[in-house]
Amino acid sequence: MSKQNLSVLVVDDREINNKNLRGMLENLGYEDIRLARNAKDALGMHIQNPSNILVADWMMPGMDGLELTAAVRKHDEHRKRYTAVLLLTAKDGTEPMLEAFESGVDDYLRKPVDSRELAARLYSATRLANQHNLLLTAREVLRMDNERLQQLAVTDPLTGLGNRRYMTAHLESLIKETRARGGVASCALVDLDNFKMINDRYGHPVGDEVLMGFAEILRWSVRPTDIVARIGGEEFAILMHQPDSGSFSPMIFERIRRTIQQHPIKTSTGEIPITASIGVSRFIQEDDFSAEEIVKLADERLYMAKQRGRNRIMC
Ligand code: GH3
Ligand code: MG
Ligand code: MG
Repeated sequence: MSKQNLSVLVVDDREINNKNLRGMLENLGYEDIRLARNAKDALGMHIQNPSNILVADWMMPGMDGLELTAAVRKHDEHRKRYTAVLLLTAKDGTEPMLEAFESGVDDYLRKPVDSRELAARLYSATRLANQHNLLLTAREVLRMDNERLQQLAVTDPLTGLGNRRYMTAHLESLIKETRARGGVASCALVDLDNFKMINDRYGHPVGDEVLMGFAEILRWSVRPTDIVARIGGEEFAILMHQPDSGSFSPMIFERIRRTIQQHPIKTSTGEIPITASIGVSRFIQEDDFSAEEIVKLADERLYMAKQRGRNRIMC
C-alpha cells in the first residue's frame, strides 16, 4: 500500500499537537489523515471507517491511549483486520514502554515528535500491519475453504441432498432430542423399485435424471424441517420427529408412497413412471436404540416390503 492509500487517524487532546502531526504527515506524503481530540471520538471514527494506522496520545482525559488501543484491537478482531498503533508519550524510561507494548501497541514515539523519527516508525508500523492483514486474509480464505469442504463431505453431488454421513449425524441428534424432549421419531428408508431396469432400458444418464427427479419429489412431499438424504445408489432416507406421539401415523409414509407412484419423472426421453418401497422404524423417549439399530430395523422392513411385491410400506 502506498502512503496515498494509507489512512492515518491521529488522536491527541491538545489541538496544537494534532496540527503539528497533520503537518508532518502531509509533508511525508500521507493524504488520508483524520484528527480526533479524544479517544471516544477516535474510536467512533475508526468503527465507522477503519484506519490503517492509529497515532494515539497516551495520556488523555477519559479513555487513554492504551484503553483506545484495546478497544480498536477488539473491534478489528471482529472485522478480521489489523491496525498499526503508534503511541505518543512524554513518559521517560523503559517501564512505561513495557506497559505500552504489553497493552498491544506496535511502537511508540516520544514527545515532542521528531518528523524523521515519525517517518521511520510509520514505515515499520505499516509493514507490520500489512503482514498482519495478509495473514488474516489467508486465514479467512482457509476457513471458508474448510467450511466448503465440510459441506461437500456431507453432500451428495448428484441430487444436492445430504449423504449417508449427513443422515447418520442427524439421526444421532434426533435420538438425543427424542430422549430429552419426548415425542416420536422415525427413520424411513425409501428404495426405488426395479431401478436397474430403468438404467438397462434408458441408460445410466437417464437413470441419473430419474434419481434427481425422485430426490425432488421426496423433498417436497415432506415438511421443510424433515431430513431427506441419499444414503446409497437408489436408496434414500427420511427422518422425522413429531412432538406428540399420538400424531404419528403410518399414513404419512403411505401418502409419500402414493405421491411417488402418481408422479412419473420427467426426463430427456420422456416421462418415466416409478414406484418405491418404504421400510420405517420409529422410536420414542423410552427406547434405547443406537442409530445403527434404527437403520437396520428400517432396512429389514424395507426388505420385507420388497419381498411382498414392492410399491408398499412396512412400519
Ligand atoms: P429393487 O426393487 O429390489 O430395489 O431392485 P433395483 O433394481 O432397484 O435394485 P438393485 O440394487 O438391484 O439395483 C440398483 C441399481 O442402481 C444398480 C446400480 O447400477 C444403480 N445405481 C446405483 N447408483 C446409481 C447412480 O448414481 N446412477 C444411476 N443411473 N444408477 C445407479
Ligand atoms: Mg431398488
Ligand atoms: Mg437398492
